[in-house]
Amino acid sequence: MGGRVWEAKELFKVGVERIIFMKVVETATELKKLREKLPGPLGFVPTMGYLHEGHLVLVRQAKAENASVAVSIFVNPTQFGPKEDFKQYPRDPERDLALLKKEGTDLVFMPTVEEMYPPGFNSWVEVGRLGRRLEGASRPGHFRGVATVVARLFDLVKPDRAYFGQKDAQQLIVIRKMVADLGMNLEVVAVPTVREPDGLAMSSRNTYLNHEERKQAVVLYQALTLAQRLYSDGEKDAEVIRRKMTSLIQKQPLADIDYISIADAETLEELDMVKPPALVSMAVRIGKTRLIDNIVVAGGCTS
Ligand code: AMP
Repeated sequence: MGGRVWEAKELFKVGVERIIFMKVVETATELKKLREKLPGPLGFVPTMGYLHEGHLVLVRQAKAENASVAVSIFVNPTQFGPKEDFKQYPRDPERDLALLKKEGTDLVFMPTVEEMYPPGFNSWVEVGRLGRRLEGASRPGHFRGVATVVARLFDLVKPDRAYFGQKDAQQLIVIRKMVADLGMNLEVVAVPTVREPDGLAMSSRNTYLNHEERKQAVVLYQALTLAQRLYSDGEKDAEVIRRKMTSLIQKQPLADIDYISIADAETLEELDMVKPPALVSMAVRIGKTRLIDNIVVAGGCTS
């Protein structure tokens, strides 16, 4: 399929009903040609696919705030550790394209690994200290992979605005830092986390959870709500809050805590006393599935 632009007729084959103008491209060369024709400003939503409502909210906001919208679907191998789920990561490009079409997406970039990382590729974007805390400490090299692929995508897509979910709070902070440090000419827009009715943050990885795990996974959100409640009731000692979150999570037999953090929302340094804006975040394994979630405690209210 390399090098082709998928036209309307072919999109019918992947189950899209209303075909208008969405273009799907796999190569940088095709992307460049089509990008030039898109009216600006261009909003861009980078994703790893297997789209859910959390992704679609980003697309909708990009659509509302820009003349054109581009979405990338790329499961980026360099942000996965050797023992992580790169191979098993869920993929369903046909369904993704149908969903994006419905949202009125103008352009979808679905590169192959070789397109993004040609043989011999060996230049990387490192976002220093911020990228080594929290997720970066548990997943060494993760943010190097994220920053590098996002820098590559920004360079190819040339967006005016790029949309990222608050669900991956540290990713957002790392990308903002990269954009500022490297003087990239675009605006980074944060979009609030979309949750299931019981509070579980939507994630492509939720599909790994079996029935019992799915039930217990709600404990992440319950722990975040507990942190907010304790803080609102006057508890400012971060360690007391961490401890209470820990014991709540440990009540779920399938839950295994990777980290629980209450950190400064800009520097990501752990706090002794909670001082807004503070990022309360965690990674917890439910069975074999590693889930992350967070809230920002800001002067008594959350986002
Ligand atoms: P991913 O496909 O997991 O790399 O996510 C692509 C983008 O969607 C990232 O900016 C994520 O933060 C964002 N995202 C994923 N899940 C959610 C969610 N539940 N709410 C808001 N944004 C999300």
